[in-house]
Amino acid sequence: MNTRRNVVPAGTAVGAALPELTNCPDCGAPAEITRRDVLESTDGPVEHVGVRCVQRHIFLMPTFLLDRLPQSQR
Ligand SMILES: [Zn+2]
Repeated sequence: MNTRRNVVPAGTAVGAALPELTNCPDCGAPAEITRRDVLESTDGPVEHVGVRCVQRHIFLMPTFLLDRLPQSQR
């Protein structure tokens, strides 16, 4: 039923129905992607994601910024 096209940065796992995880842009803690929305911009539609980290920081930002975050801090 989900026919939305997702713009997925290279290197990102696709096809998972599980909550997507990333790192908080602010504190670097584990963060959950809570929503995806395509917003219009001057360069055309840009997919944005809502991110909420375990410290309750909440962000709405373009997906390409996610790809620039450090994905694993071990
Ligand atoms: Zn945070």
